[in-house]
Amino acid sequence: VSRFEGVTMAPPDPILGVTEAFKADTNELKLNLGVGAYRTEELQPYVLRVVKKAETLLLEKGENKEYLPIEGLAAFNKATAELLLGADNPVIKEGRVATVQGLSGTGSLRLAAAFIQRYFPEAKALISSPSWGNHKNIFNDARVPWSEYRYYDPRTIGLDFEGMIADVKAAPDGSFVLLHGCAHNPTGIDPTPEQWEKIADVIQEKNHIPFFDVAYQGFASGNLDTDASSVRSFVSRGLEVLVAQSYSKNLGLYAERIGAINVVCASPDAATRVKSQLKRLARPMYSNPPIHGARIVANVVGNPELFNEWKAEMELMAGRIKNVRQALYDSLSEKDKSGKDWSFILRQIGMFSFTGLNKVQSENMTNKWHVYMTKDGRISLAGLSLAKCEYLTDAIIDSFH
Ligand code: PLP
Repeated sequence: VSRFEGVTMAPPDPILGVTEAFKADTNELKLNLGVGAYRTEELQPYVLRVVKKAETLLLEKGENKEYLPIEGLAAFNKATAELLLGADNPVIKEGRVATVQGLSGTGSLRLAAAFIQRYFPEAKALISSPSWGNHKNIFNDARVPWSEYRYYDPRTIGLDFEGMIADVKAAPDGSFVLLHGCAHNPTGIDPTPEQWEKIADVIQEKNHIPFFDVAYQGFASGNLDTDASSVRSFVSRGLEVLVAQSYSKNLGLYAERIGAINVVCASPDAATRVKSQLKRLARPMYSNPPIHGARIVANVVGNPELFNEWKAEMELMAGRIKNVRQALYDSLSEKDKSGKDWSFILRQIGMFSFTGLNKVQSENMTNKWHVYMTKDGRISLAGLSLAKCEYLTDAIIDSFH
């Protein structure tokens, strides 16, 4: 008899479990709109040309595989903070940013959560309702208490701005407010620049600490600066801000696990101390981060030619997603005779569309139509091609009515 009899079976992950189910389906029509990973028009995974070029350069240089310092690759940390905040941002010049390389977006969020738990044991995190499912797991495992603020309004399939403001106001002073920097996952609904200003006002009033999750910089609008504007506007107010970054989507480096946690502090002295504690937390967890993805990012961002090529490729990826978004809207508007207004699809941004399909309807999408998606009604447009838009339209109309 096993010593592990007491270990119960864990439920499948609600997002990664969708891919497992997709793989097991033998129907030819099947479509995987579950996981947020970019696919080509032929629905194949894509390695950016600029990444291949950077990798060739790395091989030619013949660099060694010695350990990185706990905080990661210096050239990467410099590049990533500059990409996020803008190279000439005063907070960088003044040495007020603590940047530590993390294990992509997830690992960077997790490190920050451990930091919150250690230095703000009384503080609560606020998460949007809904949010990327892993946010709750991360705070739970780090033992940071959290609650939700209203975000999505099912009546408009838009932002519940009043509800959001009211809930952020009602939270205990000094809470950590988790915000999606751009391309909110799962809804695809972002605040307008004016709304961001009001959110910042309330956060400032309440002495909250904004905690941005930036997993899609450049991938939402196709422009790196546009997608960082929410974070930059908070920073320009003089607020202290946490920002987790990921290069999974915008550089297609999913499995390289490359990202960073940045803490913008009021003084260089605070930044030095915060960084020292982030390193102290990282050391017993994973000792030091992996080098390959860090070198790729540092080389792409640090080489003007490659940097420009990256921007062009990112525009191409974001453009393909915008095209299928438009095509899906056109097809639904044409084929659906119920008079339903589908324009909410065009107001959403990024990789995802929140369709408004409920759990039962989402199950119909999968069981009858072999369209794999999360049960909250989210579809990843990155997994859709123009050729499949009509089939998806039929599935959605059938599932709604
Ligand atoms: N945050 C959000 C909102 C995401 O959508 C994702 C990925 O789907 C991540 C963070 C983290 O991804 P990764 O750990 O691969 O960087």
